[in-house]
Amino acid sequence: MSAASLEHRAYIALGSNLGVSAEALDGALEKLSALPGTRVLQVSPWYRSAAIGGPADQPDYLNAVCEITTGLDPRPLLDALHQIEHHFGRERQVRWGPRTLDLDIIWYQNVTSEDPELTLPHPRAHERAFVIRPLADIAPELVLGNQPLNHWLEHTRDQAISRL
Ligand code: AMP
Repeated sequence: MSAASLEHRAYIALGSNLGVSAEALDGALEKLSALPGTRVLQVSPWYRSAAIGGPADQPDYLNAVCEITTGLDPRPLLDALHQIEHHFGRERQVRWGPRTLDLDIIWYQNVTSEDPELTLPHPRAHERAFVIRPLADIAPELVLGNQPLNHWLEHTRDQAISRL
Protein backbone atom coordinates (compact mmCIF):
# COMPACT_ATOMS: atom_id res chain seq x y z
CA MET A 1 0.00 0.00 0.00
CA SER A 2 1.48 3.40 -0.91
CA ALA A 3 1.82 6.14 1.69
CA ALA A 4 -0.60 8.33 -0.27
CA SER A 5 -3.42 5.83 0.23
CA LEU A 6 -3.05 6.29 4.01
CA GLU A 7 -3.87 9.97 3.74
CA HIS A 8 -7.29 11.17 4.72
CA ARG A 9 -8.99 14.40 3.81
CA ALA A 10 -10.40 16.52 6.62
CA TYR A 11 -11.82 19.99 7.20
CA ILE A 12 -10.72 22.01 10.21
CA ALA A 13 -12.51 25.15 11.46
CA LEU A 14 -10.38 27.89 12.96
CA GLY A 15 -11.69 30.69 15.18
CA SER A 16 -10.30 33.37 17.49
CA ASN A 17 -11.78 36.33 19.32
CA LEU A 18 -9.07 37.23 21.81
CA GLY A 19 -5.59 38.66 21.29
CA VAL A 20 -4.24 39.18 17.78
CA SER A 21 -6.62 36.82 16.01
CA ALA A 22 -5.01 37.10 12.58
CA GLU A 23 -1.68 35.98 14.03
CA ALA A 24 -3.33 33.05 15.82
CA LEU A 25 -5.02 31.86 12.61
CA ASP A 26 -1.87 32.26 10.51
CA GLY A 27 0.20 30.55 13.18
CA ALA A 28 -2.27 27.68 13.50
CA LEU A 29 -2.19 27.07 9.73
CA GLU A 30 1.59 26.98 9.84
CA LYS A 31 1.56 24.50 12.73
CA LEU A 32 -1.08 22.35 10.99
CA SER A 33 1.07 22.04 7.90
CA ALA A 34 4.01 21.02 10.11
CA LEU A 35 2.14 18.04 11.62
CA PRO A 36 3.46 14.64 10.55
CA GLY A 37 2.20 13.54 7.15
CA THR A 38 -0.11 16.54 6.93
CA ARG A 39 -0.62 19.12 4.18
CA VAL A 40 -2.90 22.14 4.11
CA LEU A 41 -4.51 22.01 0.65
CA GLN A 42 -6.91 24.96 0.80
CA VAL A 43 -7.70 27.84 3.13
CA SER A 44 -11.03 29.67 2.91
CA PRO A 45 -11.40 33.44 2.88
CA TRP A 46 -11.54 34.90 6.36
CA TYR A 47 -14.81 35.96 7.97
CA ARG A 48 -15.78 38.11 10.92
CA SER A 49 -18.71 36.79 12.96
CA ALA A 50 -20.60 37.74 16.11
CA ALA A 51 -20.00 35.38 19.06
CA ILE A 52 -22.84 32.87 19.61
CA GLY A 53 -23.65 31.85 23.20
CA GLY A 54 -21.34 32.30 26.16
CA PRO A 55 -20.84 35.58 28.06
CA ALA A 56 -22.42 38.76 26.65
CA ASP A 57 -20.28 41.48 25.02
CA GLN A 58 -17.60 39.17 23.64
CA PRO A 59 -15.50 40.51 20.79
CA ASP A 60 -16.34 39.31 17.27
CA TYR A 61 -14.60 36.21 15.97
CA LEU A 62 -12.22 35.84 13.09
CA ASN A 63 -13.06 32.54 11.35
CA ALA A 64 -11.80 30.36 8.53
CA VAL A 65 -11.87 26.73 7.43
CA CYS A 66 -9.04 24.75 5.87
CA GLU A 67 -8.82 21.48 4.00
CA ILE A 68 -6.01 19.13 4.94
CA THR A 69 -4.79 15.70 4.02
CA THR A 70 -3.25 13.82 6.89
CA GLY A 71 -1.89 10.44 7.85
CA LEU A 72 -3.00 11.08 11.44
CA ASP A 73 -6.07 9.23 12.66
CA PRO A 74 -8.88 11.43 14.05
CA ARG A 75 -7.94 11.09 17.73
CA PRO A 76 -4.22 11.92 17.32
CA LEU A 77 -5.28 14.76 15.02
CA LEU A 78 -7.58 16.16 17.75
CA ASP A 79 -4.77 15.84 20.30
CA ALA A 80 -2.49 17.77 17.94
CA LEU A 81 -5.16 20.49 17.54
CA HIS A 82 -5.40 20.82 21.32
CA GLN A 83 -1.62 21.24 21.49
CA ILE A 84 -1.78 23.98 18.86
CA GLU A 85 -4.60 25.71 20.80
CA HIS A 86 -2.48 25.47 23.93
CA HIS A 87 0.53 26.92 22.12
CA PHE A 88 -1.53 29.98 21.29
CA GLY A 89 -2.54 30.46 24.91
CA ARG A 90 -5.98 28.83 24.91
CA GLU A 91 -7.35 28.34 28.41
CA ARG A 92 -10.56 26.34 28.83
CA GLN A 93 -12.31 28.29 31.56
CA VAL A 94 -15.70 29.51 30.46
CA ARG A 95 -17.77 27.33 28.12
CA TRP A 96 -18.20 29.25 24.88
CA GLY A 97 -16.14 32.06 26.43
CA PRO A 98 -13.69 34.14 24.40
CA ARG A 99 -10.68 32.24 23.13
CA THR A 100 -7.35 32.99 21.49
CA LEU A 101 -7.74 29.95 19.25
CA ASP A 102 -10.39 27.31 18.69
CA LEU A 103 -9.78 24.40 16.32
CA ASP A 104 -12.50 21.87 15.51
CA ILE A 105 -12.55 18.88 13.21
CA ILE A 106 -15.65 19.47 11.12
CA TRP A 107 -15.42 16.43 8.87
CA TYR A 108 -12.94 13.58 8.52
CA GLN A 109 -13.12 11.36 5.50
CA ASN A 110 -15.39 8.32 5.92
CA VAL A 111 -15.46 8.61 9.71
CA THR A 112 -18.54 9.00 11.86
CA SER A 113 -18.30 9.00 15.64
CA GLU A 114 -20.74 9.58 18.50
CA ASP A 115 -17.96 9.90 21.08
CA PRO A 116 -18.56 13.19 22.99
CA GLU A 117 -14.79 13.73 23.05
CA LEU A 118 -14.66 13.51 19.27
CA THR A 119 -17.96 13.58 17.43
CA LEU A 120 -17.71 13.30 13.65
CA PRO A 121 -18.89 15.04 11.65
CA HIS A 122 -18.87 17.88 14.20
CA PRO A 123 -22.37 17.90 15.74
CA ARG A 124 -23.00 21.67 15.61
CA ALA A 125 -21.05 22.74 12.53
CA HIS A 126 -24.06 22.84 10.22
CA GLU A 127 -25.91 25.25 12.55
CA ARG A 128 -23.14 27.83 12.39
CA ALA A 129 -22.72 30.30 9.55
CA PHE A 130 -19.10 30.87 10.60
CA VAL A 131 -18.36 27.26 9.63
CA ILE A 132 -20.78 26.77 6.73
CA ARG A 133 -19.91 29.98 4.83
CA PRO A 134 -16.14 29.39 4.65
CA LEU A 135 -16.66 25.65 4.14
CA ALA A 136 -18.93 26.31 1.15
CA ASP A 137 -16.17 28.48 -0.37
CA ILE A 138 -13.68 25.59 -0.48
CA ALA A 139 -15.87 22.44 -0.46
CA PRO A 140 -19.25 23.32 -2.04
CA GLU A 141 -19.98 19.65 -2.75
CA LEU A 142 -19.72 18.54 0.88
CA VAL A 143 -22.79 17.02 2.56
CA LEU A 144 -23.37 17.51 6.31
CA GLY A 145 -26.29 16.14 8.29
CA ASN A 146 -27.60 14.50 5.07
CA GLN A 147 -28.04 17.90 3.43
CA PRO A 148 -25.94 19.85 0.91
CA LEU A 149 -24.20 22.98 2.20
CA ASN A 150 -26.66 25.17 0.28
CA HIS A 151 -29.38 23.97 2.64
CA TRP A 152 -27.33 25.02 5.68
CA LEU A 153 -26.33 28.34 4.07
CA GLU A 154 -30.03 29.17 3.80
CA HIS A 155 -30.73 27.84 7.29
CA THR A 156 -28.04 30.05 8.91
CA ARG A 157 -28.47 33.18 6.81
CA ASP A 158 -29.77 35.29 9.74
CA GLN A 159 -26.46 34.96 11.60
CA ALA A 160 -24.24 38.06 11.62
CA ILE A 161 -21.17 37.31 9.53
CA SER A 162 -19.13 39.17 6.93
CA ARG A 163 -16.45 38.08 4.52
CA LEU A 164 -13.20 40.04 4.89
P1 AMP B 1 -14.45 23.69 22.40
O1 AMP B 1 -14.42 24.25 23.78
O2 AMP B 1 -15.51 24.23 21.51
O3 AMP B 1 -13.10 23.69 21.72
O4 AMP B 1 -14.85 22.15 22.56
C1 AMP B 1 -13.86 21.24 22.71
C2 AMP B 1 -14.41 19.93 23.22
O5 AMP B 1 -15.26 19.35 22.24
C3 AMP B 1 -13.25 19.01 23.47
O6 AMP B 1 -13.38 18.43 24.74
C4 AMP B 1 -13.37 17.96 22.39
O7 AMP B 1 -12.98 16.70 22.88
C5 AMP B 1 -14.86 18.00 22.04
N1 AMP B 1 -15.15 17.65 20.64
C6 AMP B 1 -16.11 16.77 20.25
N2 AMP B 1 -16.14 16.63 18.93
C7 AMP B 1 -15.18 17.45 18.41
C8 AMP B 1 -14.73 17.74 17.10
N3 AMP B 1 -15.28 17.17 15.99
N4 AMP B 1 -13.71 18.65 16.94
C9 AMP B 1 -13.16 19.24 18.06
N5 AMP B 1 -13.55 19.02 19.32
C10 AMP B 1 -14.55 18.12 19.52
